[in-house]
Amino acid sequence: MRHVHNDIPASSNHSGRPSILLDNHGRRITYLRLAITDRCNLRCRYCRPENGVPFIPHEEILSLEELERLVTLFCNLGITKVRVTGGEPFSRRGCISFLTKLRQVNGLRTLHITTNGVKTFRFLDELKNIRIDGVNLSLDTLDPERFSRITRRDYLDSVLQTLHGSLSREIPLKINSVVLEDTSDDEITRLAALAKQYPVTLRFIEAMPFSGAKRSGKINNGNLVSRLHRIFPELEEAEAAAPTTARVFTHPGYMGRLGLIQGYSRQFCGTCNKVRITPAGMLKTCLYDSGALDLKELLRTGAADREISEAIVDCIRSRFVNGHEAERFSNRSTEPSMADIGG
Ligand code: SF4
Repeated sequence: MRHVHNDIPASSNHSGRPSILLDNHGRRITYLRLAITDRCNLRCRYCRPENGVPFIPHEEILSLEELERLVTLFCNLGITKVRVTGGEPFSRRGCISFLTKLRQVNGLRTLHITTNGVKTFRFLDELKNIRIDGVNLSLDTLDPERFSRITRRDYLDSVLQTLHGSLSREIPLKINSVVLEDTSDDEITRLAALAKQYPVTLRFIEAMPFSGAKRSGKINNGNLVSRLHRIFPELEEAEAAAPTTARVFTHPGYMGRLGLIQGYSRQFCGTCNKVRITPAGMLKTCLYDSGALDLKELLRTGAADREISEAIVDCIRSRFVNGHEAERFSNRSTEPSMADIGG
């Protein structure tokens, strides 16, 4: 029985009131991660198996118009931060004009993008022009050979061009580095040196079970916090503005900061303020669930804005308490690929 909502505002009168997207655990949802494609120009081994995963058929991927309509509806419900992800967002034609349109959406305060940097350097001036609020650059190593072993491609130079191009244009930049089972302390030190030399936040990310393959056994991230403190004894944990998924650290003599995202040990679910839309149009209320609402179905069966908004509010009112519970109920034999989720 669809719940009648008197609290869904008429569209386009956002006026900065708090999000009405309150979940069944008292968490207010203000952040939407929007995956606009599952296509990518890298083949990272922790995201795609050797022989790849079949791409979602084009007609099953939401159109940019459908995505824009959804962002408008979510912002009308109180979303203020949108992160565009993928696959690799710049693998989708029209990405920049789409971002430019999102910039105009009523109620959207901050617009961010997560990219692997391979093509991004070509669009840095346009990203600057639309006043992108932040670029998260994925970079797991500075060693060209290791880069090829991890990503199965030789594009490190392009990624570094994006890194330095963002810095020279003073585009707010964060670097995300997945710590893999064979990531050495030297590698961590070399990556951290970027935060010593530049005003960036270098975040180390726990490996997570989204490789698109059948995994044998549990992921062992070890205790990354104590590892960082062992490598960097002068590290000081800083107050991180909640809600946040990253722990942040300062270090004497560093221009930037170091960070840690414990996506596997799921330390921050209690203040989780985000939901995701997959390239195929599924609303995920947790990274670890297997999809909670088929938005594409609603869009393509002629549902009105109000009906879609009501379905979104209802869906968010029945969220899992945390990622562990979501994973328990997601009963999947093979791990989904992060490219099909959007990170
Ligand atoms: S694991 Fe799920 S509930 Fe926890 S922070 Fe991530 S998305 Fe939120």
